[in-house]
Amino acid sequence: MPVLATVLGHPRIGIARDLKKALEAYWSGATSAESLLATAQEIRSRHWSMMKEAGLDQIPCNDFSLYDHMLDMAVTVGAIPSRFQRIADPLNRYFAMARGVQDRGAGIDLSPLEMTKWFDTNYHYIVPELSADQSFVLNPTKIAAELAEAQALGIAPRPVFPGPVTFLKLSKYADDVPAGTDPLELLPRLLPVYEELLALLAGHGVTSLQLDEPCLCFDLDARSEEAYREALSRLGHAAKRPTLLVAAYFGSIGDNQRLVTDSGCEALHLDLVRAPGDLEAVLAALPAGMKLSLGVVDGRNVWRSDLEQTHRMVRRAVTALGAERVMVASSCSLLHVPVDLDAETRLDPELKSWMAFAAQKVAEVRLLADAAEQEEPQGAAFDQAAAALARRRAAAAVANPLVRRRAEQVTNAMTRRGAPFAERSAKQKRRFDLPLLPTTTIGSFPQSREVREARSKWRGGTLDGEGYQGFLQGEIRRCIEKQEQLGLDVLVHGEFERTDMVEYFGEQLEGFAFTQNGWVQSYGSRCVKPPVLYGDVTRPRPMTVEWSGFAQSLSKRPVKGMLTGPVTILQWSFVRNDQPRSETCRQIALALRDEVADLERAGIAMIQVDEPAIREGLPLRRRDWPEYLEWAVASFCLATAGVTDETQIHTHMCYSEFGDILPAIVAMDADVLSIESSRSRMELLSHFRQHGYPNDVGPGIYDIHSPRVPTVEEMTTLLQLAAEVLPVERLWVNPDCGLKTRGWPEIEASLANMVQAARQVRRQRSPG
Ligand code: GLN
Ligand code: ZN
Repeated sequence: MPVLATVLGHPRIGIARDLKKALEAYWSGATSAESLLATAQEIRSRHWSMMKEAGLDQIPCNDFSLYDHMLDMAVTVGAIPSRFQRIADPLNRYFAMARGVQDRGAGIDLSPLEMTKWFDTNYHYIVPELSADQSFVLNPTKIAAELAEAQALGIAPRPVFPGPVTFLKLSKYADDVPAGTDPLELLPRLLPVYEELLALLAGHGVTSLQLDEPCLCFDLDARSEEAYREALSRLGHAAKRPTLLVAAYFGSIGDNQRLVTDSGCEALHLDLVRAPGDLEAVLAALPAGMKLSLGVVDGRNVWRSDLEQTHRMVRRAVTALGAERVMVASSCSLLHVPVDLDAETRLDPELKSWMAFAAQKVAEVRLLADAAEQEEPQGAAFDQAAAALARRRAAAAVANPLVRRRAEQVTNAMTRRGAPFAERSAKQKRRFDLPLLPTTTIGSFPQSREVREARSKWRGGTLDGEGYQGFLQGEIRRCIEKQEQLGLDVLVHGEFERTDMVEYFGEQLEGFAFTQNGWVQSYGSRCVKPPVLYGDVTRPRPMTVEWSGFAQSLSKRPVKGMLTGPVTILQWSFVRNDQPRSETCRQIALALRDEVADLERAGIAMIQVDEPAIREGLPLRRRDWPEYLEWAVASFCLATAGVTDETQIHTHMCYSEFGDILPAIVAMDADVLSIESSRSRMELLSHFRQHGYPNDVGPGIYDIHSPRVPTVEEMTTLLQLAAEVLPVERLWVNPDCGLKTRGWPEIEASLANMVQAARQVRRQRSPG
């Protein structure tokens, strides 16, 4: 039997973001459920047909989702929190779990399930919420329908499900369950439902099934190992079932491979892009008869594969195992890349020839599988790929000697501020003369319809540059006035000129390119279009100085300059893979360092460099943490440490729990850190209590993810709580994140309350 070609999953959103549009139309009440479901079906069959035509041997199914695959699994195993059970219509219940429902008239106010980042990606999954007495019951509606659809198209698909251990490890207990209880305890109750599912699918003619177990790439404690042993051997020995492919990805499976190789499952998938070193160890240990799926085509990036090199890996596996035991695959689901490069008509043709989106990656997988039995791969496709790679390596656009030289000359001293925090802080206190508990915001104010309209008119040419600039200046002026009226102490300009905090800088830096349709799903109907960072990074001219200077000219109070940090720019772009990420990050940091210097020179006395993505870049394996954190922190410091003691550096972080990287955050040595914390009721403070925090910090006290206006009392309580843990002289008062997605009325009310809360606590706490 020849080597099989497959992928672990396909993008869902559709080339024209069809799913996004259909979802949003349905949510707004403009279209019916039937029309939404018809679009979803149309997207699925289009993608199946594409994969079939491209010649994949095993085609995924159930990788599609109307919102999220973890939410789908929760529904499939009947993990529906009780508050949603009274919603009778399954589709509305599903979306209520994802998005919450608020109907004041009817007295309904259901908060959605939590959402968090999927491993080290920018995709967010819905966190299943389990009750203390959770039981599970199989609901096969979704898979049965999608299976029937695929079969009707003449496709015998390989269904995909999150495996039971990953499902439980990524779930959480509801708030009323005593802390310290581990969802893995529920495994014995969950496994029968998986067994039932396997039997049912076997009955429907499914011969092969993919269980996604990316948690196999974590360092596992004894309990998780035990859970894997129990789960995989139980499913491996189930009486009636398809063959099982256990998929590990996003990192190295390392020693955890034996949890799969001992299990009786038929196949193991490895991420050989992230962990090429796993191949030899697994080849040595794979039991006779077990198949190996080689994740050699990068599912996380947009570059064409180095076919020669990947071919060598495939050859190595084929020689060791025989062709019949080898599959060629994407490293992970293609969910994380855009659909089709052919839809890009404006990319530079040279750059485009270096790239591959999902459709092109499917073709690469096929090609590699076909060539698996040739010693030297031949044919036009291989030649073309090799030529493109050679051109890419030689391209002048990629390497800029000046940037290289400068990066080499970076010294440790450049990553350290002139004086320690205590000294800087004293100087800054004299310079700014702020009250106790100074109030500020995180940067953005509402991107209203007017702002978006003006921008699209300007982009479309119906508003000239001057008109657009005048419009934005008007917005900044109003925003500054509002903040002064509200009584905020440290102001921001509002970021009206930015659509996106990474795109805005990418567009002004050299080394970045932009796609027309390169969307990837972030969560639900939300998509992002990451810039493509392909070459050495330079800053041809100042990027923010004019806006910040203008804003500062309007007020006597300090207005913070506002930049996106190097790690976040890196993390939210498709990054070149021809040099270490650390190197690319350093180049971005140097460009930002110049921007910081220009801002300082222009009289901007406080400069905020946002790093919301620093936690999500953390590798899955702890042994890889120190290296990542070292260069990530060094990049931030390189960008910010060039200023004088009197210039105050702020940073901001959100979207994650930061407890486990606190020492790295301390090492960033920002003068002021504003950090998301209100949703978790200041959970972060317990980390601060244990380890302290040496510089100024503003734990967010206003949850901006909800349109709710927090009361003065709520916020004073949170502030008091913070003041018990950290010295009040080092505390700031701010929301959790930027206000871009909120509306003005609720913001004004909330910020007025926030300022009020600060004043109250100030009165209680000020000495004398
Ligand atoms: N300064 C940015 C803003 O306020 C920060 C955004 C973020 O943290 N994601 O919008
Ligand atoms: Zn934020």
